[in-house]
Amino acid sequence: MKILVINCGSSSLKYQLINMETEEVLTKGLVERIGIDGSILTQKTPGKDKYVVEQAMEDHKAAIGLVLKALIDENFGVIKSMDEISAVGHRVVHGGEKYAQSVLIDDEVMASLEDCVKLAPLHNPPNIIGIKACMELMPATPMTAVFDTAFHQTMPEEAYIYALPYEYYTEYGIRKYGFHGTSHKYVSSKAAEAMGRDIRDLKIVTCHLGNGSSVTAVKDGISIDTTMGFTPLEGLAMGTRSGNLDPAIVSFLVKELKITADEALNILNKKSGVLGISGVSSDFRDIQIASEGGNKRAKLALDIFCYRVRKYIGAYAASMGGVDCLVFTAGVGENSIEMREEICKGLSFLGIELDSERNHTRGEIAEISSDNSKVKIYVIPTDEEMMIAKDTKDIVSK
Ligand code: ADP
Repeated sequence: MKILVINCGSSSLKYQLINMETEEVLTKGLVERIGIDGSILTQKTPGKDKYVVEQAMEDHKAAIGLVLKALIDENFGVIKSMDEISAVGHRVVHGGEKYAQSVLIDDEVMASLEDCVKLAPLHNPPNIIGIKACMELMPATPMTAVFDTAFHQTMPEEAYIYALPYEYYTEYGIRKYGFHGTSHKYVSSKAAEAMGRDIRDLKIVTCHLGNGSSVTAVKDGISIDTTMGFTPLEGLAMGTRSGNLDPAIVSFLVKELKITADEALNILNKKSGVLGISGVSSDFRDIQIASEGGNKRAKLALDIFCYRVRKYIGAYAASMGGVDCLVFTAGVGENSIEMREEICKGLSFLGIELDSERNHTRGEIAEISSDNSKVKIYVIPTDEEMMIAKDTKDIVSK
């Protein structure tokens, strides 16, 4: 069974074709600048030359049409015909409260996705456009939606209800939803596998640290709390997002800078986080270089980032009544030896002890805790596409 995984952004689209018998990625690609000048498709296939198509793509349907063409291309393709694709799994950012699991897409699901646009106005519309375009081009192929929010639907009320007038929850759906669910689910299950234990008996803290970052408490295999909230803005300091702050700062900014609330939110989403603090970059590698060169604000940005991660590890150990396993994943979590070292500093009271030598690893699954550490610490590269493909396979096999 071959499954096509599609992750549609507003002007870009990532895809992978996966053979589910062997869990082998047959090919993966990226389409950029959809609907704008300079549209480009790049497809990388193991053992083959990179395939690049520079051709105008006026919309997502045109882009997906070219993806399908690239997949069956005589020289650069990996399948003979589109019929070989058994199903398409679509990444969808927001499933609201309706979806605690991935689903087979039908008219009712499409209507629900439209309902969720209010909750994720930037992310859900491109996801919906991608699904519709695929349905038009492959009307007979089953499609699934795999939601970033679904894994967190198991959170208890005390974790997801904000201390606001309760009607705002019932009338407007204002609550913590959480994101990166597919990644937290994937790495927590991989960690249990690595420990040789049943995930239903484990307390795991998963740290997805990339441009966008979140920490999740996974108890007995389910998410019981996570740092992102109603939107991905809550929680950790991120590449450009502020994370938690006193909401009174928003109205203060509106008055002092004479800007609108939306403009203030744009500052919190796009100009804050480690970029705002350091004034250097949103990229952790640039900030690390600046910090090593003596830039104090760059060092402060990294200190704030690590402090918050460390604080939430402690908080979630308290939420779960202990912790057996700590996982680092995503760009920073998988690659930054220094950030992992810094985050784990001072956590020995929880039984978390990093082994500096084992921590010298990047981008591969590795156990990095010391032999004395009561808590197992792992680096586990996330693989949201594989998780989407697995969910899709399970759904269409039923
Ligand atoms: P997203 O998917 O949220 O865009 P990623 O998970 O790809 O983000 O993470 C991107 C971040 O990972 C960038 O800030 C980048 O600097 C950081 N990163 C990648 N490699 C390294 C490294 N070797 N050391 C430190 N940070 C790294």
